[in-house]
Amino acid sequence: MSETTPVIALHGGAGTILKSNMTPEREAAYHAGLKACLEAGLKILNEGGSALDAATAAVMALEDNPLFNAGRGAVYTTDATHEMDAAVMDGATRACGAITGICGPRHPVLAARAVMERTEHVFLAGEGAKRFCENAGLEMMEPEWFGTQQRLDALKAEMERRRLGLADDGDPARKHGTVGAVALDKHGHIAAATSTGGMTAKTPGRVGDSPVIGAGTWADNKTAAISATGHGEYFIRWAVGHEIDARMRWAGQSLAQAAGDVVQELGELGGSGGLIAIDAKGNIELPFNSPGMYRAWCGADGVIHTGIYGKED
Ligand code: ASP
Repeated sequence: MSETTPVIALHGGAGTILKSNMTPEREAAYHAGLKACLEAGLKILNEGGSALDAATAAVMALEDNPLFNAGRGAVYTTDATHEMDAAVMDGATRACGAITGICGPRHPVLAARAVMERTEHVFLAGEGAKRFCENAGLEMMEPEWFGTQQRLDALKAEMERRRLGLADDGDPARKHGTVGAVALDKHGHIAAATSTGGMTAKTPGRVGDSPVIGAGTWADNKTAAISATGHGEYFIRWAVGHEIDARMRWAGQSLAQAAGDVVQELGELGGSGGLIAIDAKGNIELPFNSPGMYRAWCGADGVIHTGIYGKED
């Protein structure tokens, strides 16, 4: 059987720093971080590893990088706590796992994988999920490990804005962020992984789209592997991952058309954000309706690209 050329894409969230606030140093740090995280996943694919392992490895690298809102660098709730969400899905089998509202595992994506691989369940929440992670032997961290001054400042600014009753200034960097990866391996299988701290100043207990299978995370070899980022409530209401699947499956649309249209339609309804998507043929789509989306990808030509804003960069 002929081998498929591996392909991988990742995102570091739609909560990009506005171009007007970006400095060349920060921009370079984001590009370098995106590239290094992509390489972590690509290495696994090039050594013959699975799409699921590659997507997981890329997300683990993103979780450890405090520039991105997942794992270390996660945003804060209104209680100044962290509640992290993550999910993984294997396109070959539709096996999946997810966790929500958790603060403990250094790598929430590994917690989602453990749910998938070591339980008969798909989705674990809160205290029970944390206990499961401890029992599963996952590396656990104190809450302080996840915090950064930048996220604390963002929480303070958001709380102050609310206190004063001011309009949202629309700066996505203050509120948004998530990380995710999608991959195609040499066996022609695709997979998706997503991890997030959610949205800054979210109500404790709030669950976003990232861990919701069919909303922020989705994978089926017949259609696409998808990881989303943006205003999660909209992504849940429009079942974004599954909506793209349905348009491809039932209307025969290409990945480009289905993913592009859904993201555009969401934007028209007020749901800002974007997603990364691949299919089993190796097509990659990275649509977003926000001012930017941190992203990196490597197609069948083996060339690594990184981007933050529009197509020009
Ligand atoms: N989608 C994430 C959530 O709603 C946040 C983001 O990607 O900006 O939790």
